[in-house]
Amino acid sequence: MQVPPPTIEAVHLVVGQFTCVEPAGLQFAFEVQTRGTFLDGVRLAIAETPLIAYCDRCKAEYLPTIGEQYACPTYKKPMEEIRSGRELKVDRIECRSPNSS
Ligand SMILES: [Zn+2]
Repeated sequence: MQVPPPTIEAVHLVVGQFTCVEPAGLQFAFEVQTRGTFLDGVRLAIAETPLIAYCDRCKAEYLPTIGEQYACPTYKKPMEEIRSGRELKVDRIECRSPNSS
């Protein structure tokens, strides 16, 4: 007996704040682009991650202000290492099994 494919309910994305991706714009594009496809009506859930940098002089992480201040606030050392904020990935896909409704 063949098992019917699971129904996709939601796609969970992780979008870093330092990717230049606007969640609202992505949401809109997803809706438009999936119309009439197998992803039509699927919910797009976006989790934003903050920009986190690491300063090797302070040996600490800090939160730069996007568009204003990227250097370390203590020593004004330019941002060199990014620990978070550049992700753009599918975190997980939520499915509903066909026989649980
Ligand atoms: Zn520092």
